[in-house]
Amino acid sequence: MANTRVVVVGDGAAGIIISNKIRLLTDRDTVSVSIIGNSRYHYFKPDGIHIPLNLKNYKDSVKPTAFLINAGVEYVKDRVTKIDHTNRKVELQSGKVMEYDILIIATGDRFSTDDVPGYSGNANHFYDLPSSVSLRQKLREFKGGKIVVGQSSIPIQCPPAPYEFTFQLLDYLKSRGIRDKTEVHYIYPLNRVFTMANVAEEVQRLFDEKGVIYHTLFNVESIDGEKRTVNSLEGETVDYDLLVLVPPHKGQQVITDSGLSDESGYIDVDRHHLNYADYDDLFAIGDATNLPISKAGATAHFESEYLANRIAYETSGHVYEDAYNGEVACTTVTGEQTAMTLYFSYSKPPRAWYESKFDYLLKWTSADTYFSGMLRGIM
Ligand SMILES: Cc1cc2nc3c(=O)[nH]c(=O)nc-3n(C[C@H](O)[C@H](O)[C@H](O)COP(=O)(O)OP(=O)(O)OC[C@H]3O[C@@H](n4cnc5c(N)ncnc54)[C@H](O)[C@@H]3O)c2cc1C
Repeated sequence: MANTRVVVVGDGAAGIIISNKIRLLTDRDTVSVSIIGNSRYHYFKPDGIHIPLNLKNYKDSVKPTAFLINAGVEYVKDRVTKIDHTNRKVELQSGKVMEYDILIIATGDRFSTDDVPGYSGNANHFYDLPSSVSLRQKLREFKGGKIVVGQSSIPIQCPPAPYEFTFQLLDYLKSRGIRDKTEVHYIYPLNRVFTMANVAEEVQRLFDEKGVIYHTLFNVESIDGEKRTVNSLEGETVDYDLLVLVPPHKGQQVITDSGLSDESGYIDVDRHHLNYADYDDLFAIGDATNLPISKAGATAHFESEYLANRIAYETSGHVYEDAYNGEVACTTVTGEQTAMTLYFSYSKPPRAWYESKFDYLLKWTSADTYFSGMLRGIM
């Protein structure tokens, strides 16, 4: 029997990558790896900026989850209802209890649409598969008018996705011959159009060039479906014919209920070592953390690289001295089949200085790279 039991909670991007990576790097006789989750299918969320605009068939963005988990990793199809970190065990919906030596939380986040009165039934979005497919239909029926795109609040997964969607929306409207009949507005919670200053500058330049009207310092308070208006906490009202609004996000309730976080549901981890408080057997990665860097699959990938190596070293009796320095690489679409790749870390802000067709090709083919390499833990 293996003498180190690694348990991963959450079968999304971060959970699958770290499980597969640990399996590749460790000896099956000394380390067991179990991943807990009950997602039948795994959806490649970055395709959400393509599917509503009829650029991709969603069937290419989905694979059965069990198929993505490498041999030698135990897949426990269940949900965790409580994490008892003092006694090193997790309780599952089925009533089962699993003990661990190392626990990695990768439960991602969730949408908290109730935080915005009027959201349900009035706002559309592209942040999960069913919503992307239903937005595709709304856009097909759209004949011209005013489209408002934005996000309700911060943080959200993949902060660039709303501007990426907006740039592709402009191309879509042009291809349907209704760009000149459509006003595109962009709302954003900060006093610029993106979190990072130099990227915001470039996005704003492109918005100006392409005729997108932006409203900054716009934190969504409510939506009035009858009047078709979206209202900000700051007192501004914008009317719309079609509203595409990323819902507010929170961490998972199980995290709050287990005493690992406040009401926000995000876990406070050491930014360089990813451990919770002073525990050396409890880690969190991916969107579940409250780290100041992007909530992105790319972040989960870099974090997994660090943590899997560390676990492999330590379980084989070595000391691992490296640290995670907040590295992320993220390719973001800027329209007209161009994209720019942002490389950054805790200490280096991204440089956003050019867009290229090659970067767009990287983005376009990223589902293939993701399913065949990144999730498998081999890159
Ligand atoms: C439109 C869009 C575009 C994006 N574009 C990009 C991009 O271009 N590049 C990029 O790097 N990232 C992008 N992202 C972000 C990326 O998809 C997420 O950051 C990534 O999925 C986070 O992985 P995660 O495992 O932390 O969370 P998730 O993938 O959400 O997985 C969490 C998993 O935990 C499971 N879970 C939750 N609670 C429990 C429980 N109690 N018990 C067991 N299991 C549980 C869930 O069912 C889920 O399977 C995009 C996201 C969106 C929505």
